[in-house]
Amino acid sequence: MADLFPKAILLDLDDTILSYGSPAQCWQEVCGRFVVREGFQPQPVLKAILERGVWYWGDPDRHRRGRLDLGMARREVVAMAFLKLGLDNAGLANEIADAYTVAREEALQPFPGAMEALRRLRAHGVKLALLTNGAAEPQRFKVEKFGLTSFFDLILIEGEFGAGKPDARVYRHALEMLGVTPGEAWMVGDNLEWEVAAPQRLGIKGIWNDFAGTGLPEGSDVRPYRIIRSLTELI
Ligand SMILES: [Mg+2]
Repeated sequence: MADLFPKAILLDLDDTILSYGSPAQCWQEVCGRFVVREGFQPQPVLKAILERGVWYWGDPDRHRRGRLDLGMARREVVAMAFLKLGLDNAGLANEIADAYTVAREEALQPFPGAMEALRRLRAHGVKLALLTNGAAEPQRFKVEKFGLTSFFDLILIEGEFGAGKPDARVYRHALEMLGVTPGEAWMVGDNLEWEVAAPQRLGIKGIWNDFAGTGLPEGSDVRPYRIIRSLTELI
């Protein structure tokens, strides 16, 4: 059973260790609260926000800029949705975007069993690195809020390191810091490009955390080493 575990595992944070629940549900709750107060129908606003969100986050450059300032990105998404609907109320748009940011943070919690899985991987002597994209302050805040520091030999935050996944420098730096070769490491996360395809190009085994249970997207040519629904399946 010596090779049950690799020497090192690189882990994603959001939607892998920490759960936010559904973004659509969160937008729905926030729209319900504010849009109804103003006397509008919430459904068209919700639909426009979700559509603009898909467009906004679908572009890698916009994604990089947006994830380093989520508050700003969400304000832009809601402003575009209002524009599309012909709603001229920038104050309300910002209020909705900011309420979403607060609600998302409040919804945040570790997936059931995730912390215990980390503890057990540590107990088996597996070296662990946390590789998370996003701005320094909010990502570091989450790491500390949930007491994650002690589990990891390396915590690499995009906003602190100066590059984010899927930039090869991120994975290479992690391997170097942990003192392992690509073949001795797994990368686990929910993003098929960042945590499976990109690390696999370097020889790291990519494990896809299909937390939502949607299965591989149709037409995807990414072939994960394993597909799991929860970190507990690693144990
Ligand atoms: Mg993630």
